[in-house]
Amino acid sequence: MQNLYSIRMRAARGGAHEDGGQHISGAERIVPEDKIPVILQQLYSRARKHELGRPDFININVESLSGWDIKELTSLMVYTMGCRDYQEGRRLAGKVLELKGINPRIVEKGFYYLRGDHFPGTDHSVTSPTGTGPTGTGKNMRGAILMDINTGRRLEPDQSRGIRASRMDYHPEIVPNLYELLDEFGLNNNHVREALCLATKVANVSGVVAELCWSDDPGYTAGYVAAADLGYIRLPHLKEKGSRHGGRIFFIDPGRVKPEDIIKNLEQKTYIITALGPVHGEITFEELKRSLFK
Ligand code: AMP
Repeated sequence: MQNLYSIRMRAARGGAHEDGGQHISGAERIVPEDKIPVILQQLYSRARKHELGRPDFININVESLSGWDIKELTSLMVYTMGCRDYQEGRRLAGKVLELKGINPRIVEKGFYYLRGDHFPGTDHSVTSPTGTGPTGTGKNMRGAILMDINTGRRLEPDQSRGIRASRMDYHPEIVPNLYELLDEFGLNNNHVREALCLATKVANVSGVVAELCWSDDPGYTAGYVAAADLGYIRLPHLKEKGSRHGGRIFFIDPGRVKPEDIIKNLEQKTYIITALGPVHGEITFEELKRSLFK
């Protein structure tokens, strides 16, 4: 593979993230050297035009990946699980997580965090991705919650930042094909493309059992549950329209892999998606379950 560069952007308002600024947006790409100027421009425009507001801090970082170990991956299979509203979407997402062997109590705890509530009766409910209380007055996290599937404990060293999955992208040669595959199901948009890339990396990090996500973008109600064997299961409704509450939970099993190693791989191991998994239409929960156990 030719020499590649990782370009990462993060934007905040009210100062830099490390100085308490509110996270507005983040994105990243892996590209060959000749594409750097155009990607810098794209990421800058994107930071400036986010629905969550105009940032006053933008950091764009360019780093050579020369000498790095770069792993190749196939993107997760994509399905859509139909749901009428976010209540049904959350109920289905919960059932899918339970298929991964995650205890319903731990699943429920994950939902509390993404809703922006405190989880009662715990000593580690101090920081949720969307702040305090159901109306959510706090700040969104830049990264994901890392939750122990055995105890429900949060394992991020810095709970206000979370763990950021980083250093992943599609190989440029497969992008036209990706557009075509997603187009067929009306899924060819930035949200889905980027989330599928991130979810593919996360699902392939050993020790990660599953991921739950919905966006903090007020206009985007869809979200997903993903896991290596289940694929990327998109749910059109996981939150109310207009809500600014969103986030990600990486459910991990620290009994299998040490959390420090999981974090290191999530943040630093470089993956390029060089092949595409199939994109399917709608699947019901029962069909998904049957496909897993046949
Ligand atoms: P988005 O899907 O971009 O709207 O992001 C929704 C939420 O997911 C953000 O508020 C973060 O909490 C989390 N998030 C976004 N990007 C990442 C990432 N690269 N790694 C981990 N968590 C992320």
